[in-house]
Amino acid sequence: MTELDDFKQEVATWLDGNCPPSMRRPITTEEMVWGSSRLQFQTEDQKLWFERMRERGWFAPSWPKEYGGGGLNPKQNRVLETEMAKRGCRQPQYNLGVWMLGPVLLEAGTHEQKLEHLVPMMKGQRRWCQGFSEPNAGSDLASLKTSARLEKSEGGEDCYVVNGGKIWTSDGDKADWMYALVRTDSSSKKQNGISFLLIDMKSPGVTVKPIELISGKSSFCQVFFDEVRVPVRQLVGKEGEGWTLGKKLLQHERAAMSKFTEGGAPSADALAVTLQYVDRDADGKLEDAALRQRLAGVLMDAQSFTLTHRRVTEMALARKDVSGPGSIMKLVQTEQEVTKYELLEQAMGLRGLGWDGEDFSAEELDLCRTWLRTKTYTIAGGSSEVQLNIIAKRVLDLPA
Ligand SMILES: Cc1cc2nc3c(=O)[nH]c(=O)nc-3n(C[C@H](O)[C@H](O)[C@H](O)COP(=O)(O)OP(=O)(O)OC[C@H]3O[C@@H](n4cnc5c(N)ncnc54)[C@H](O)[C@@H]3O)c2cc1C
Repeated sequence: MTELDDFKQEVATWLDGNCPPSMRRPITTEEMVWGSSRLQFQTEDQKLWFERMRERGWFAPSWPKEYGGGGLNPKQNRVLETEMAKRGCRQPQYNLGVWMLGPVLLEAGTHEQKLEHLVPMMKGQRRWCQGFSEPNAGSDLASLKTSARLEKSEGGEDCYVVNGGKIWTSDGDKADWMYALVRTDSSSKKQNGISFLLIDMKSPGVTVKPIELISGKSSFCQVFFDEVRVPVRQLVGKEGEGWTLGKKLLQHERAAMSKFTEGGAPSADALAVTLQYVDRDADGKLEDAALRQRLAGVLMDAQSFTLTHRRVTEMALARKDVSGPGSIMKLVQTEQEVTKYELLEQAMGLRGLGWDGEDFSAEELDLCRTWLRTKTYTIAGGSSEVQLNIIAKRVLDLPA
């Protein structure tokens, strides 16, 4: 037995003994536990699972123990992921900070910033939102205009004074802090004048307005900054390094998005709901040959995605550059989700279009919402067209 085999055995025993059965069922959006200063649990099992994983530092198993992580090496981390996946264990907390900001802070943050921000993330106490997009800076993010002017202080702490606003900020009204890209210099090339700031959402001058969509209330917010004072110690990296750090963060976002779709939309479950409404012959085979063929295609694509995902993970473990594959994975995964749910919806007919009411089961209602949500995945974190541009330029080296 190697050390890794011992570790695998230990993890398997621990998960079997500590992950409550209800935390091994596919999760719905409503059941996600978001790390926050206003942490909420719906069940005792959620709380138990959250606390047990937190104690082991397994909210971020590979982060250093010093900052609340589990201190696992990449191979041990992979073992834990695999053992959790085998048992269908849920993520104990959802947190943009852990998926996106944390890896950037580990690389570019100071020791003080890591202690100030990573430790509360690892306790599940702080919810983060992302302040990148602006009304005229989405795909063309480098055009952002929210300004941060440095103000020196006599005796006190120097501050950046932030003015402007962000849009499409997911859950901005629930967040404790925002990581934001701001303009600290408008005289140089647009990419060079951007800096990466951490902003306390309780600061005077921050206003958050939820955005209503045609479908009703959404998780989107617009955030306004009016002379918001942010201490210079909340600048990550150097002034003007925001573009480089922002791009790194987006790579982590794109990688994490494959986990969102797994978490929010368990396909095996959705498939089971759909198949109740599909005619089968005496052998259990789907009667509609066209549907059978399309479904088989979707499942085969999903399987090849899973295998490719594993290969890219191995590349990352071997410390190879996976920024190109990251864009490919984001593009393929999110487009596949759209194709899959379009097909399930077609197979369900009217049963797939329930929005509320007692005529529909919770699974049917969830399927309809997931179908609509999959379309947003192809925009969030950089649209499919933008991923195609990145792949053309950075992976295929095609001329601009
Ligand atoms: C669910 C969801 C959550 C989000 N959460 C956040 C968040 O928390 N924080 C945040 O900062 N932002 C967030 N966003 C915003 C998201 O990053 C932007 O919507 C996205 O970058 C696109 O920008 P835009 O909406 O301004 O569209 P635009 O940039 O105006 O694009 C409009 C269309 O033109 C296409 N297009 C634009 N430029 C090109 C080009 N060069 N070549 C080819 N096609 C092009 C795009 O693909 C798109 O189809 C979220 C978006 C969604 C959908």
